[in-house]
Amino acid sequence: MNKIQMTTPLVEMDGDEMTRILWQYIKDELLLPFIDLKTEYYDLGLKYRDETDDKVTFDAAEACNRLGVGVKCATITPNDARVKEYNLKAMYKSPNGTIRSIMDGTVFRAPIMLKSIPPYVPTWEKPITIARHAYGDVYKNTEMKIDGPGLAELVFTAEDGTVTRQTIHEFKGPGVIQGMHNLDKSITSFARSCFNFALDTKQDVWFASKDTISKKYDGRFRDVFQEVYDKEYKEKFEAAGITYFYTLIDDIVARVIRSKGGFIWACKNYDGDVMSDMLATAYGSLAMMTSVLVSPSGKYEYEAAHGTVQRHYYKHLKGEETSTNSVATIFAWSGALRKRGELDGIEELQVFADKLEKATLDTIEAGNMTGDLALITTMDKSKVKKLNSLDFIKAIRATLEGML
Ligand code: NAP
Ligand code: MG
Repeated sequence: MNKIQMTTPLVEMDGDEMTRILWQYIKDELLLPFIDLKTEYYDLGLKYRDETDDKVTFDAAEACNRLGVGVKCATITPNDARVKEYNLKAMYKSPNGTIRSIMDGTVFRAPIMLKSIPPYVPTWEKPITIARHAYGDVYKNTEMKIDGPGLAELVFTAEDGTVTRQTIHEFKGPGVIQGMHNLDKSITSFARSCFNFALDTKQDVWFASKDTISKKYDGRFRDVFQEVYDKEYKEKFEAAGITYFYTLIDDIVARVIRSKGGFIWACKNYDGDVMSDMLATAYGSLAMMTSVLVSPSGKYEYEAAHGTVQRHYYKHLKGEETSTNSVATIFAWSGALRKRGELDGIEELQVFADKLEKATLDTIEAGNMTGDLALITTMDKSKVKKLNSLDFIKAIRATLEGML
């Protein structure tokens, strides 16, 4: 069989622990036998990040901006324990955070749905894609504990020295205060990323805030979204037959639960933090969640939503058998390959990506799955075969070979 040819390389970002093991299995079993895989390789494994003082992460993010499509393995975000474990020179920042800020992107997360793993909400027939604004608000706040009576004020000093002040509260006793901000530029980028992704995936966009209470702050989010939509996207949306819909956050949660799914839910930073965990759980499993970072200028970085599955890795190191779910990582590759195929006009690559995803889901629906899915599937238990990490990928390969 002739291997599928690529023109532009993908930015390949290797990672850590159990997902690094899966990464190699996926390449060996599901990609290299079928594709003349072209990648620009960056090792974001913690050891090499440390050797390069994290320069490799910055280089990888720049490469995503240059080449347009990247695929990333899960990586360790160091904490005190990791600094000791890996004898690190510094407590490096989260690679995802670094990449996100360089690409100025928005993360879109969507569940991978299976017939045999129905969501907790029975009306959800399609995935709900959640987009979280990843800048500002309470995540870049300034807080103060107030110990006794006094005046708390909001003060803004303009460049020309003009001072504007407003009373927050006249404290009669102890309490707390908090200041936070956001930027028109960041909200605009977020809106553009959401609208671009909607056009890409032919889905409606829903957005909500609490603008009845926060008239200026949340009101600014509502207005920026509407301005960007009216000026840059309205016509394109109408041509594509999709819509943009804004409402109150209280109203949207009710609508989300009653919906059939199949839309993009744009969330402010805090809403996205909380709601993405709710959606992942309601759809079944974090191991079945895809994640793609989309920049406002249309560059893409695909990954799995879960971490490096440390506990499984330690078992693997002890020579014990693991049954780690590689589906989200496989879908990161298929997403990246499909997008590369679209951008370069390589039909074969897009078809391969579709088949790889179908082979993965068909393998599971036939009863061959990893332990985490075996625990939650509604399939007749006598039909379920729990496979180890490598055998699961080999089973997908067998299904895929049957389809090609
Ligand atoms: P995790 O890797 O997401 O795993 C937490 C638990 O969830 C696992 O122990 C496992 O449960 C289950 N799980 C997650 N993914 C699974 C999969 N693919 N197959 C089967 N089970 C799966 O989170 P963590 O262990 O708390 O974090 C490990 C490292 O990942 C941390 O250093 C963190 O910094 C990093 N992290 C990276 C990213 C990223 O790069 N995007 C995201 C989150 C966390 P059982 O143990 O019960 O089987
Ligand atoms: Mg959260």
